[in-house]
Amino acid sequence: MEFSSKVALVTGAGSGIGKATAVALAKAGAKVGLLSHTADEIDKAVGEITEAGGEAMAITADVSDEGEMRKAVEALVERYGRLDIVVANAGINGVWAPIDDLKPEEFDKTISVNLRGTYLTLHTTVSHLKKQGGAIVIVSSINGNRTFTSPGATAYSATKAAQVAMAQQLALELGKHHIRVNAVCPGEIDTAINDNTSMRNREETEVPVEWPDGEIPVNDGKPGKSQDVADLILFLASERARHVSGTPVFIDGGQGLLR
Ligand code: NAD
Repeated sequence: MEFSSKVALVTGAGSGIGKATAVALAKAGAKVGLLSHTADEIDKAVGEITEAGGEAMAITADVSDEGEMRKAVEALVERYGRLDIVVANAGINGVWAPIDDLKPEEFDKTISVNLRGTYLTLHTTVSHLKKQGGAIVIVSSINGNRTFTSPGATAYSATKAAQVAMAQQLALELGKHHIRVNAVCPGEIDTAINDNTSMRNREETEVPVEWPDGEIPVNDGKPGKSQDVADLILFLASERARHVSGTPVFIDGGQGLLR
């Protein structure tokens, strides 16, 4: 039970990478706050954890809303008395479109959930981590860091690059409080994220290149699984990563090197 004395918050924990991480943390003994803006999905995930003997709390909040995030973090700390691990994972693909077609409100929405959401997650939690030290893991992407070939993904890529910048900036700022800050950069992972993607005029933004057969070098070209990313996040949150901070870790089976 590697995380038995620890309390963790995972945002976007109702589905995909966030859910797999929350389940894995609970299985390893942590008390976990599962946060999402959709009550149904986190209630279900919390049910699965508690049925398996774990300890978890469902928290409904929109990561881009300051008031909701403050209340959410207060409720978690009130219930479990402390906070050690924060996984800033909630994110959307948003609208992928040519820059002259991408509407300001569409741009703002992606920035608001992915970047402001990450800021608010850290802004509202760090004072609790400072009490005893802790670990922050931000879920970024290969997009904006290793690859720039997802057609029209300008807003998304910009948020994902900014998240890695935040991880590095804050690794220095928070080091003296014994808080480590790292980022994971997944390639294609089999989750529900494509349901929240809207693409327009792809033919205008796509660069016509031919990939070699089998897009992802390892794993026979198949996308990764949420559990693959969860395993890495748990490592970065654990004592085994005690000397790792300010580091983006690519988890893409080599996909980003190919593109
Ligand atoms: P997903 O759609 O399966 O899960 C996203 C979760 O975030 C859901 O629980 C959803 O309800 C929640 N969420 C969305 N907007 C929210 C908001 N405003 N407030 C609170 N919760 C919100 O997606 P996923 O693939 O598991 O994505 C998780 C993270 O991984 C994202 O940051 C995404 O950018 C990143 N990522 C995913 C992939 C991939 O291929 N799936 C690749 C690289 C990076």
